[in-house]
Amino acid sequence: MNELKKTNISIDFLTELHKKNRQTINTRKYLDKLREKNLNTFGNKCELCNETKNLEFHHINPSYLGRGRGSYNRYNEVRKNPELFKLLCKKCHDSI
Ligand SMILES: [Zn+2]
Repeated sequence: MNELKKTNISIDFLTELHKKNRQTINTRKYLDKLREKNLNTFGNKCELCNETKNLEFHHINPSYLGRGRGSYNRYNEVRKNPELFKLLCKKCHDSI
C-alpha cells in the first residue's frame, strides 16, 4: 500500500513536471514569434548603423518599465507601443 502511494505521488509529480516543461516550450515559441513580429515592425535592422545581428529593443524612457518584467511583458510592450522603442544592435545599445 505504501509502495502504491509512493508510485501515485511520483506519477503526479512527473505529470506536473511535463505540463510545466511543455508550457515553458510553448511560451518560448510564442516569445520567438512575438520577437520576430516586432523585429519586422522595425525593419529588422539597427536604427543607427543598419546592423542586422544581435538586435535589441531599446526603451526610450527606461524608467517607464517596472522592475522584474520578463521578455513576455517587454515584447508585448513593444508590440503595443512601438513608438516607445528603438531597435538597436547590441553595440549601439551598449553605447547609449
Ligand atoms: Zn547599431
